[in-house]
Amino acid sequence: PYDGPSRDEVIALRTQYVSPGVITYYKDPLMIVEGNMQYVWDEKGARYLDAFAGIVTVSVGHCHPKVIDKVRAQTGTLQHTTTIYLHPTIGKFAEKLASKMPEGLSRTYFTNSGSEANEVAILSAREHTGNTEVIALRNCYHGGTATTMGLTAHGSWKFKSNQAQAIHHTHAGYCYRCPYGLTYPSCDLKCAHDIKEVIEYQTPGEIACFIGEPIQGVGGTVVPPKEYFKIVYDIVRQHGGLCIADEVQGGFGRTGEHYWAHQNWDVVPDGVTMAKGIGNGIPLGAFTTTEEISKVMKNRIHFNTYGGNPISMTQGLATMEVIEEDGIQENARVVGGHLKSRLLELQERRPLIGDVRGMGLMLGVELVRDRKSKEPANTEAAAVMERMKEHGVLIGKGGLYGNTLRIKPPMCITKDDADYLIDALDLTLSELN
Ligand code: PMP
Repeated sequence: PYDGPSRDEVIALRTQYVSPGVITYYKDPLMIVEGNMQYVWDEKGARYLDAFAGIVTVSVGHCHPKVIDKVRAQTGTLQHTTTIYLHPTIGKFAEKLASKMPEGLSRTYFTNSGSEANEVAILSAREHTGNTEVIALRNCYHGGTATTMGLTAHGSWKFKSNQAQAIHHTHAGYCYRCPYGLTYPSCDLKCAHDIKEVIEYQTPGEIACFIGEPIQGVGGTVVPPKEYFKIVYDIVRQHGGLCIADEVQGGFGRTGEHYWAHQNWDVVPDGVTMAKGIGNGIPLGAFTTTEEISKVMKNRIHFNTYGGNPISMTQGLATMEVIEEDGIQENARVVGGHLKSRLLELQERRPLIGDVRGMGLMLGVELVRDRKSKEPANTEAAAVMERMKEHGVLIGKGGLYGNTLRIKPPMCITKDDADYLIDALDLTLSELN
């Protein structure tokens, strides 16, 4: 049992010494002191089904024994030197990543976070093309550093002093809230073609790159129509730009059918950025690209003290091995499919549920006050999240209005867990009425 400082002591310390920028999620902050696979425990011993996985980070399960064993052994042998000396782990992990990537994407640069991985991707694209302009999607999230905050397209995440330059935004494939009020497929994918106008009106006509999440995470699990990315990638390439897929949330089997979320759209990016699920909860990010594009990182010295360290490399490699050994991707497909069909059933009975979206274990439930006007039910979404915690289930929320529930558990979740989650959500929605 837990015998550390009390919750009140923890809150007091945090209030006095930690930046107020470090926020808690629940009105009555939750303290988590232990985790095992898809479950976590608070200081009083109450168990929760973790259906948000530390924000889509714990991919194969909290403290997965196979991962922990390997990392423990590495921690006891050598924790850190830096990449200026040789160590076998970096090459082995980079080789493993290359084995899963589309043909030609073989060179990886390691960082400690998704934001840094996206920085390296944008830098590489700008150096490689000689162009500066970058196009991202409305409603996206790519990080909190200067450039990635500029990419991120939600006003609430953008500090007023942020000076990121040469970044433009095009429409995402967000059918439920189509910016043109059109319906797929008679819309002719107007949202995807918008990027041509953005390039022609807002840039010199040549761009460095386009970056997009194949399925938007923070934006509320926005899943575009199947042709969307093909159209966008074609237009980007016609204007000299590279195509970058941000797989920070969707990668490593989470969408079920494919290892990479972009494979659902039958496109091949020029570079892939990763973080979160890549390391099952350790600070680890990566950018993988072609041999040719990777060469630009030698234009000057670029160095990341912890990027590629033996502990992160060991945990990343062990995580990828477990994804294969434990049939994690298949589980995401099967249990995710079950969860989605039960959510769709629930939608028929619960009018608050406007839309159910997602693939595998990357699911979103958009709540609306009225199905016709689609008025965002944001306070209701917050209330659902709070109440779900009381019923022992942790979920997230997101979207521009904060009205989309996000369900992205560790991918070892069982069908019984999924059923429990649905029962808890059903009960919560009945209590809300
Ligand atoms: N890209 C995406 C799609 C993300 O969801 C996030 C984090 N929410 C990031 C990048 C940034 O990752 P990090 O917080 O590790 O910098």
